[in-house]
Amino acid sequence: MGIGTGKGWWSLRDFQSFWQKAMNLGLVGPILYKKRMPTPRCSADQPLAILTFHSHSDRSFLDDRELATLSGALRHEQIANDLVLVAITGGSQADAADAERNLAELLSGYDPIVYERVWDPEVVARLRDQLPDKTFIGLRGEHELLDDAPADIFCNGEPKQVLAPLVAWLRGERDLPPRGALFRGEQGWRESDPSAPVEVRSFPYAPNLRPVILNRDRLPESRTFSVTGNEGCPYQQDARENPLYAGTEIPQRFGRGCAFCTTGNHYAGRPNEETAASVFEQIRYVREQAPELRLLVLKDQNPFGYLTEVVERCAAESVSGFTLLLETRAEWFLRNAGRFARALQVAGESGIRLAPFLVGIENFSQAELDRFNKGIQAETNFEFLETLWQWKDRYGDALDLGHAAFGFILFSPWTTMRDLEINFAGIQRTRLDRLRGSILLSRARLYEDTALFYLAQRDGLLVDEFESQADDASRRYGYYPSRPWRHVHSDVAHFAALATELAERNHSRDMLRLFELLLSAFREAGANWRELTAHGLWQRYQSEGTRKENRGDRQLAPASEEFLEKFAALIAPLPIQGDFAGGWQIGGVATRPGRVEVEMCHAEEPAVRLELVPRGDGPYLRRSRHYHLRAIGKDLNPSQQRAAETLVDAIVANDR
Ligand code: SF4
Repeated sequence: MGIGTGKGWWSLRDFQSFWQKAMNLGLVGPILYKKRMPTPRCSADQPLAILTFHSHSDRSFLDDRELATLSGALRHEQIANDLVLVAITGGSQADAADAERNLAELLSGYDPIVYERVWDPEVVARLRDQLPDKTFIGLRGEHELLDDAPADIFCNGEPKQVLAPLVAWLRGERDLPPRGALFRGEQGWRESDPSAPVEVRSFPYAPNLRPVILNRDRLPESRTFSVTGNEGCPYQQDARENPLYAGTEIPQRFGRGCAFCTTGNHYAGRPNEETAASVFEQIRYVREQAPELRLLVLKDQNPFGYLTEVVERCAAESVSGFTLLLETRAEWFLRNAGRFARALQVAGESGIRLAPFLVGIENFSQAELDRFNKGIQAETNFEFLETLWQWKDRYGDALDLGHAAFGFILFSPWTTMRDLEINFAGIQRTRLDRLRGSILLSRARLYEDTALFYLAQRDGLLVDEFESQADDASRRYGYYPSRPWRHVHSDVAHFAALATELAERNHSRDMLRLFELLLSAFREAGANWRELTAHGLWQRYQSEGTRKENRGDRQLAPASEEFLEKFAALIAPLPIQGDFAGGWQIGGVATRPGRVEVEMCHAEEPAVRLELVPRGDGPYLRRSRHYHLRAIGKDLNPSQQRAAETLVDAIVANDR
């Protein structure tokens, strides 16, 4: 963004700094500022960019629905714009730097540049350095991070209402900036005086479903899109009423719902009939306008009052071929078991799949659940997970568990070794590790708008920095930066550090076995747990696998170098060390007489295992000249499916 002068173009910051100096010298005064707004500030010839940062190529929980509807609303108001989607990490640092460079190049054709979610303000700061003439506008997101927002202007009001008049003002098409826009000044953020009230407009449902994607290879092929049921969460238990929170000082506007979540601070429920009609219309719109979007997330923490009716209506009006991903609580699933079973029945008959997606299990230890203000008994978590597996047996493909990414927090600041023991047993009993990846890496994230932050503050557990970047779960998953914390118990802190290192060495594979190994090592070490090292545990992990094989257990032995050479020829041109099929790698090859097992790993996806056995009877995915090729486990998600098919294609082509 620039302001024309005889010498070229000034940035808004240059202008503000010049103006402040001029005011200080008495050359101009505030009254002049009020009367003569600098204009134009953005060229009307350039479209606006709405930037959406993704940090990992996971089935993303980062939701672009609001930005897509904002883009649609601006188009409705004749403001040309694109939703620009970029994955900044998910690869090496060099990849990230490349992505940032390419992004800056792409954004040079846009002005202003709008963004909401960014886990590291430095990313935007670096973009600003590369694009000094552009205006950056920050939007209020899930968490309030006004001071960290490296923007020129902060949109403090509802973006759909404020952004269009703000852009009109920036383009010199309007005299006054709208109320709700804050400007960065030397004294901090301030609203322009005077500013004009915003006329409230309504918009048709027309989200921008086709973002400009900068680095498509870093993102999953099947993207999700969200449709809205009811905003917020009806679970609103106040942490202040939880005796464990005695003595905390939680600001009045926070503290309801689960203690690590902000969604419970509000809820706007509509009558079921109205919500059902609205959800159906959104699904129909997305299916008609962008049939490639087959994974639709239903944003409603308790959709059971109308879900069955939506599925029935979709079936009746032939809106099908999609998977509806659900986010909800375990006990609400159980309470509505009859209605959900009916929905599964209809879905199965009409080409629709229902996928429990984000279901907050969080923990199997009652002490941790209570601290999380979860309002649930650990037994209910067990009952739900057991019911879920029964539904899977009964309804088959209609219940899609391939997208499950259930909420689980293994490490909180208060976690004890006993909690870890309970959780290991719980995960083993319920097979939760099949319903969420990276269990050993899951950690509480503390934000100032969540009750858990104030509990940690009361207990003196907030610190200035994480011990290592590996402890920073926000950075790992691309969320807003969270507040660093420390563990109460130093043995758990050591356990968590070892868990991270082992999980990373093992590419997030075989988490349950690593978990078991850590627990037994800590038990055996007793008071000497400090002597446990990642190197020693890693050696033990590898040798235990070999010992089991020698004892004749079902465990396979790691393949020999000689076998790996033959295997490399069998999968050529796929690399035995390197990426294929969008970030997948060969994680391990193991053999025993009559069987080869190949594990494929991905930085953010659960691993996939493929089995090669001599041709004979029995099921197979594909056959090559000598082998039956089988995927181990059910419900591969699209990315896993792609990895399995790529590898199988190579083997079939080579084994002739
Ligand atoms: S975690 Fe889920 S149930 Fe708990 S408050 Fe947040 S949205 Fe509601």
